[in-house]
This record gives sequence, structure tokens and C-alpha cells, in this order.
Amino acid sequence: MEKKNIDWANLGFGYMQTDKRYVSNFKNGAWDAGALVDDSNIVMSECAGVLQYAQTVFEGLKAYTTDDGHIVTFRPDLNAERMEQSAKRLEMPVFDKGRFVEAVEQVVSANAAFVPPYGSGATLYIRPYMFGISPVIGVKPAEEYQFRVFCTPVGPYFKGGVKPLTIKISDFDRAAPHGTGHIKAGLNYAMSLHAIVTAHEEGYDENMYLDPSTRTKVEETGGANFLFVTKDGKVVTPKSDSILPSITRRSLVHVAKEYLGLTVEEREVYKDELADMAECGLCGTAAVISPVGKIVDHGKEICLASGMSEMGPVTKKLYDTLTGIQMGRIEAPEGWIHVIM
Ligand SMILES: *Cc1c(COP(=O)(O)O)cnc(C)c1O
Repeated sequence: MEKKNIDWANLGFGYMQTDKRYVSNFKNGAWDAGALVDDSNIVMSECAGVLQYAQTVFEGLKAYTTDDGHIVTFRPDLNAERMEQSAKRLEMPVFDKGRFVEAVEQVVSANAAFVPPYGSGATLYIRPYMFGISPVIGVKPAEEYQFRVFCTPVGPYFKGGVKPLTIKISDFDRAAPHGTGHIKAGLNYAMSLHAIVTAHEEGYDENMYLDPSTRTKVEETGGANFLFVTKDGKVVTPKSDSILPSITRRSLVHVAKEYLGLTVEEREVYKDELADMAECGLCGTAAVISPVGKIVDHGKEICLASGMSEMGPVTKKLYDTLTGIQMGRIEAPEGWIHVIM
């Protein structure tokens, strides 16, 4: 298979139209057989549920080329399960887990020429999503839905080297108690746009959101979970009902315990503890771990010991081990690497 003529190393994180995408429609209470299609546009009612009341959920995962030349994805079954949880919370029909993984396989295979080569640092980002497509004007769930998967090649995350982030403790909230913070829904992002644009205008890379009811505990950023390393070398990740269960964070916790022999605590993390942390990172599919160098709490700076020029030593070990597993250089736990071709 001949690869597309793309400058892999200089790709950013943007949308590039690829050859094929997968579409399945839910009508009269059932999903149809689904198929790959050429048309990247969607035609729908002006009154579609997604347009009026934001009834839509999504997932994000990557396909990439391993050391030995296979094209693989990382734990796509967990994306399928999480989309099921998201769909149920928004009163949408569930798209079968097995079919979800098959749809991802089909889209990646059909667009194999867009999967960046091993060593380029670039990956194929895959976006499964589902939305209410039938007309809804009185507030209620739509009757018809569309499930789609498209993909787009994206560049290396740490282009030009790792640059630890400066983040601020936000005065905005990301999720309400007992709300939708734990599901991957576009609505959580729509309401975070003002907060992130504001943070960027003030010179910060990201927001740290606190728990909305007490504003004393760390939740997450707009699109990544936190992972901390204490000064005595323990890995700590915040536990909360209103954070999105990151697959990367869950995988890093396993790596920390089982591969690196570290002590891991998943518990509530208080804002007042931040000054005791040696390292801090943001976990998500995009970067795996993006190190944080500085946290600013209303003008008060908390500088992580790992500094502003590199990943902290434990963060680096976690990063190297998980990316090693993903790329096929380190043996993966059973079921983590899903070979497509
Ligand atoms: C997608 C997402 C993450 C990261 O999850 P991964 O499965 O690791 O990619 C974290 N927080 C939020 C709010 C997200 O939407």
C-alpha cells in the first residue's frame, strides 16, 4: 500500500479529509447494517436534535504503525464501552460494542494510506460520534440517530520538544455535581470554550477545574485528567464522579503499578496539596502525558520541582513505558493492542 504524500513530521492537530468514513443510521428502533461512504458531508433537518439541544456524544482514539509494521489501535473496546455510557446518559440508543470496534477497523483499513509510518511521531486520529438527527422542537430525545466514524492524520504532539505547561486554577466550573462531567459529550466542551479562550488570553495553556460544590478539590482540565507524583514518589490521580474516565490515565495507573512498581493512590486531591507535588501531568489520547511546570492560583505560583524545560523523572518513565507498549517495543498487557492489519 502506497502512503499518501504527506509531510508527517509537520502535521498539526487539525482536520484533513480522508478517503472513507463509516455511517450507520438508527431508525424505527434499530441500527441499520452500516457502511463505508465517500461523502464527508452530512445532510440533516434544520431541526435535528443535535442542532437544537446538543444531543451528541463522541470518542477519540488513535491508530498508528508499530515497530514491526502493523497498524494497530489502543484499547478500542474501552472507547466502545465509554460511548455506551455517554449515550445512555443522553437518552441515546447504544451502538453495539463489537460493531463499534468493527467500524473503527473498517475506517482505519480503508484509510491505511493515511496512517503515518512508524517513527514519524504522527498518528491517525479516529473520531467516532453519534447524534440525534431527526427533528426535535419540544424538548425530548430524538427518534433517529446517526453513528459515524471518521479519521484524520495528526502530527507529533511534542513537536520541537517537550514544553511543560503553565495552567491556571479556573473560576469557571467544568461539570456540575451529578451532571454530565463523566461522559464524553460535546456539551461539556461547548461550555468550556469561554473558559479556555479566557485562559489563553491571560497567557495560560490550560485550566485546572475544581470540584464545583466545594472548590477545594482538583478535577481535571477541559480535555485531560491529572496525574501527580508526590515528593516521596507516589503516583496520585484525582477520584471524582464528575471527571471523564480517561483511558490513558487508567492505562498509566496500571503501568505505574505493574510495570514500574510504584505506589498509586486514586483519591480526592485537595488544592491545598498541590504545593506538595513534585510532578504533574495531563493525561489523554492526544499527548499521552503532557507535563505541567507551573500552576497559578489567583496570582500565587506553584512551581513543580520538575521545572519548565522537561518532564519530571517519574512522568518520563510513565510516558516512555506506555508509548513503548503502544508502539510494540515493550510487551503489552493482554488485549491492549488491537491489530488491524
Ligand atoms: C477525552 C477526555 C479525556 C481523555 O481521555 P482519554 O481516553 O485518555 O483520551 C479526559 N478528559 C476529558 C474531559 C475528555 O473529554
